[in-house]
Amino acid sequence: MHRIVILGGGTGGTLAANRLRKVYRPDQADITVVDQDDRHLYQPGLLFIPFGVGSTQDITRPRGEQLHPGVNYVTTAIEKVELESNTVRLVDGTNLAYDVLVVATGAVLSTNETEGLTDAGWMEKVFTFYTPKGATALARALGEFTGGRIVVNIVDMPIKCPVAPLEFCFLADSYFKKRGIRDRVELTYVTPLDGAFTKPVCSEQLGGMLADRGITLVTEFNTGSVDGAKGRLIAYDEREIPFDLAVIIPVHSGAPYVFNSEGLGDELGFIPVDEHTLQSKASPNVFALGDAAALPASKAGSVAHFEGEVLVDNIQHFLDERNLDASFDGHVNCFIESGSSKALLIDFNYETEPLTGHFPGPVGLPLMKESHLNHLGKLAFQWMYWHSLLPGRDLPFVTSHMPRAGKHFVAPVKKEHSR
Ligand SMILES: Cc1cc2nc3c(=O)[nH]c(=O)nc-3n(C[C@H](O)[C@H](O)[C@H](O)COP(=O)(O)OP(=O)(O)OC[C@H]3O[C@@H](n4cnc5c(N)ncnc54)[C@H](O)[C@@H]3O)c2cc1C
Repeated sequence: MHRIVILGGGTGGTLAANRLRKVYRPDQADITVVDQDDRHLYQPGLLFIPFGVGSTQDITRPRGEQLHPGVNYVTTAIEKVELESNTVRLVDGTNLAYDVLVVATGAVLSTNETEGLTDAGWMEKVFTFYTPKGATALARALGEFTGGRIVVNIVDMPIKCPVAPLEFCFLADSYFKKRGIRDRVELTYVTPLDGAFTKPVCSEQLGGMLADRGITLVTEFNTGSVDGAKGRLIAYDEREIPFDLAVIIPVHSGAPYVFNSEGLGDELGFIPVDEHTLQSKASPNVFALGDAAALPASKAGSVAHFEGEVLVDNIQHFLDERNLDASFDGHVNCFIESGSSKALLIDFNYETEPLTGHFPGPVGLPLMKESHLNHLGKLAFQWMYWHSLLPGRDLPFVTSHMPRAGKHFVAPVKKEHSR
């Protein structure tokens, strides 16, 4: 009887547990998921709440009900992992011994890392839409906003869903246009990156989309403090950006217990793993997936989904004493809402930048192009999340490896304009 303990019952932990339950009968493996609460939040839904679309109740379900029968579910916070004794200590005093440990405790928002962020003005004129409370408070504030300066600021990378703050800007542009007050709202996107996004070609396109909508892009801005009382972001290099309303994406780190668990995490509390097998660098019987893993891939639900297949294979390989399958390619797939009921789709991996073409093959959703079809895809994803992705089913036509068919691998030649 194998003892498999999964830390975190969010996207990655739930789909891993359900996939493992399909592979191992209850008399072959004891599978236990630990989470601190019983509210599973569909986090991509947080993006729409500030604009009055949906509520936190609409995107929350009981966590335990997402797990297949036969998966044990423990609702307690984790205190620490002791790698030497293969034991997880929970805050209620329980100890869980494991043969294989899966770390899927995601990323937490470290609001206290930024001076002043949660002082004067927090949740009054300084918000984040990355939490249910923040998204709801922001909805009220945007509803009452009649004009002024709005800044959207990523304090530092990495963050969950690196395109979400850009989507927020595009949706805000659309929202204020609909309300007929866009000319009274100054929108500024402030990022520590040197462009709108991490990937150069895509960054240029998204930067162009900000410009087309009259949204100012401020790059290489490393926020040192937020002064809610005076309404200004202050960078370490002393640049200042004034605001009437700030939407902040705080610093992310791994779950607090990782810092108490000797040898498990890096300095940010994320778990160093092999890029292709997802096996921890600290111990061969520990694996990580989702936002908790320190990988050069985006922190996104789609990534946790693609990792799930390889992770479950590798747990079997490990328990059977076979070589691990080094096949995770860093596949990321992301819809980017661009306002006016349109969205772009990007699909890439460790090796390949987002490219134009279609997904998942020559006929399919347009890549790197705004379309209504992609917007419908983004909306449909919530259904797929609860009914396919979490239960551990394979999505039709979507593989864990990045598809090459349908993509334009030759960069389009830029036409010279004659003067
Ligand atoms: C606003 C927003 C928009 C997004 N949009 C998209 C999108 O469009 N597409 C996309 O693919 N992704 C999107 N994401 C990202 C996506 O939601 C995450 O990448 C994904 O949920 C990560 O899954 P995970 O299992 O790693 O972590 P999570 O789903 O966050 O689960 C981690 C779990 O660990 C538990 N936990 C943490 N610490 C402890 C502890 N000490 N004890 C016990 N339990 C603990 C937590 O309670 C939580 O349930 C978005 C995220 C946000 C915030």
